[in-house]
Amino acid sequence: MSVDQYSFSILSFKDCPVQKTPEQVIELLKAWRKDHLFADKCSICKTLLPSTPYTLCCGHFYYNNHFKTYPVQSFAVYTPKYAFELPILKRLKAQANVKTDQDFLVLPDPIFWQVVSTLVYEKIMKFVQGLPMTSRTQTVQSPSKVGLFYKQIVEAPLNYGSLQRRSCGKSTLIRQVAFGKRCILSMRE
Ligand SMILES: [Zn+2]
Repeated sequence: MSVDQYSFSILSFKDCPVQKTPEQVIELLKAWRKDHLFADKCSICKTLLPSTPYTLCCGHFYYNNHFKTYPVQSFAVYTPKYAFELPILKRLKAQANVKTDQDFLVLPDPIFWQVVSTLVYEKIMKFVQGLPMTSRTQTVQSPSKVGLFYKQIVEAPLNYGSLQRRSCGKSTLIRQVAFGKRCILSMRE
């Protein structure tokens, strides 16, 4: 028996229990950055939050505080025509004529997010929608830049420690973005 072509995918989009569109992810990121409360009721409409670890209600982000232990729930975002992978892997697959059909990204549970990682994810969600990265520049990145964005996802800082540690350390917004410029008399050592 001989096989001319292989196609592989570890997961399919439907295998992921939580699925979101890039637009929904941006909404979630924005609300999370505003505030991420632990609650069982929405502070605006007062309805009980659904029994999921985290949710959006009335434009606000909530972690459901009814869980005794926090069930980690990453989610999948559909990214048609954008396969995020290492450039070397892409090349090797092209050489071997192997096809992948994983056109989605799995993003970590918001419990691990830091402000910096939410900014990276937002940029990537705009990238896959073919929108400009920031409101300041109207430049739209070409889909061939996928390797660059893959690197940013891999390097996006995540908080694996306590919730308090979110606001201190090298990978926080203040030290990475605000004081992260190379100039004299900055807070860089
Ligand atoms: Zn509400």
